[in-house]
This record gives sequence, structure tokens and C-alpha cells, in this order.
Amino acid sequence: MCQGSAIARDPLSAAVRRAERARLRKVLRAEGYAVTAQRRATYDALLDANDHTCVEHILEAIQRAHPTWRVNKTTVYRNLDLFQALGLVREMRHEDGRAQYELALHGPHGHLICRQCGALFDLDPALAATVQHRLREHSGFAVDLAGHALYGVCARCATVRQGAVA
Ligand SMILES: [Zn+2]
Ligand SMILES: [Zn+2]
Ligand SMILES: [Zn+2]
Repeated sequence: MCQGSAIARDPLSAAVRRAERARLRKVLRAEGYAVTAQRRATYDALLDANDHTCVEHILEAIQRAHPTWRVNKTTVYRNLDLFQALGLVREMRHEDGRAQYELALHGPHGHLICRQCGALFDLDPALAATVQHRLREHSGFAVDLAGHALYGVCARCATVRQGAVA
């Protein structure tokens, strides 16, 4: 299970959810994949979460919505891989290999991941742009921060650690 991120995104509006569901159907059909109830339920769980979520949480949400279904983690992983390949979902990796997923509709962006508690934050796009600009000025290197994670210690864990030392 993952920790939710510290961001509190507003729930998606009914209009966005409708549009996203339509996009799922369209993309699946265009690529020759069946629009199965399980794929729709997996996507619904991501729409409901509207956050960086994990396979366990998605599975839990599907089981809650459809108690009679027999769904397992492997199925969810497979659907998430497919969504990723179709550009509907993005994956973030923790250093220990655990993955979190979010809807691609939020656009490409980098992430900050805490090594201690596993909390995950969106990297502010304006800040990322500044870093990219400065790096290019400094070394001529065009770094791509979107889609990557920077690992470190979150503010909360840093405070706890300081408290323990004091
Ligand atoms: Zn989770
Ligand atoms: Zn932390
Ligand atoms: Zn994100």
C-alpha cells in the first residue's frame, strides 16, 4: 500500500469523468482492445482516487465497487501496464521498486519521493522549469525532469529526525 500524496486535488468533475471514460473507450477500441468491465472499473478507481495511487488501493476500490468479482493484483497490473502503454496513465517508481500510478490527464511532471516514509509529491512545474533553465545555462544540458523522480527526505521526516536529535 502506498501513502497518498500530500497534495489534495479536488475531485474530478462529472464532466471530466465522463470525458475520461469516453477517452478510455475510444483509445481501447482504436488500438484493438476490448472495453471490458474490469478495465473500466480499474480506470474508475483511478478517476476516483485522482491522486498517485497503487495496485493495492486500486484493487481495494474495485472490490468495494464490485464485491462479487474475482479480481486479483495480476489483472490490475496488466490493465495498468496497458493504460500506460496507451498513454492514459503514468507510473512512478520508488527506489525499492514499488510503483504508483496517476492519470495522464494531469500532464507530464516530475515527482519528489521521500526515502523515509515513501510520501510522494508533485514537483512544481514552475520550479522544474527554473532548474531546467539554470542547468541549460550552466552546462548546455537540457535535462528532462518530467517523468522522473527525485529522492530525498520530506519536511515532516526531516522535522521528526531533528526532534530525535535535539
Ligand atoms: Zn496505495
Ligand atoms: Zn517522509
Ligand atoms: Zn504526480
